[in-house]
Amino acid sequence: MGLNRVRAEGVKGFLSDDEGARLYELAAEVAHRGPCLEIGSYCGKSTLWLGEACREAGGVLFAVDHHRGSEEQQKGADFFDPELWDEAEGRVDTFQLFRRTLDRAHLNDTVVPLVSKSTVAARFWATPLSLVFIDGGHTYEAAYNDYACWSRHIIPGGYLLIHDIYDSMDEGGQAPHHIYKMAVATGQYEVVERIGSLGILKRYPCGILPAELPEKDY
Ligand code: SAH
Ligand code: MG
Repeated sequence: MGLNRVRAEGVKGFLSDDEGARLYELAAEVAHRGPCLEIGSYCGKSTLWLGEACREAGGVLFAVDHHRGSEEQQKGADFFDPELWDEAEGRVDTFQLFRRTLDRAHLNDTVVPLVSKSTVAARFWATPLSLVFIDGGHTYEAAYNDYACWSRHIIPGGYLLIHDIYDSMDEGGQAPHHIYKMAVATGQYEVVERIGSLGILKRYPCGILPAELPEKDY
């Protein structure tokens, strides 16, 4: 994990080391039980942390991203990075840097990039997942789609992780917070903790019931 911290420093992205270290720990716990999947890889910062844990566990990480950037990363927007602009194509391209990150971290036999819109990758998805990390588009539509398309594949005891949860509009957009609250409201998840803007939910294992059930059930 120390190695990861060093590697992650050199990769562009939107994840603190503390959040990354937690991703690593959670993936390390469950990666032997099924593939992990992230939505929103960008240049591979989160992929490094999750991927390293999957590699050590003999697991697999599916990394979903169309690699054309979110709304706020387009030319003229707040988080535009000119180094990610493909002049010939006239659009953002994070896939080149993402591949470089995978090469340098020796993750090519662990990470499966799905260069696709999240909803398209999800269309025929039928594989149970041990961990889903949602860090893709921040519109309500994108966040809701990511939640609806992918959370349903999480195995009992698996993790649903949502990034960019902010308590107020002043700190940031509310779409990730909205889907986080939707997930909690289903009663299917234990609220584990919040670290930075990362919300950690654990799908209740089979046979373990939430505490708030009525005393009598007849
Ligand atoms: N996890 C990254 C940051 C992700 S930024 C890190 O650790 O640094 C958000 C990413 O989501 C962008 O790369 C963007 O291309 C991708 N994205 C946005 N909407 C998407 C969608 N609908 N389908 C797939 N990828 C999407
Ligand atoms: Mg994020």
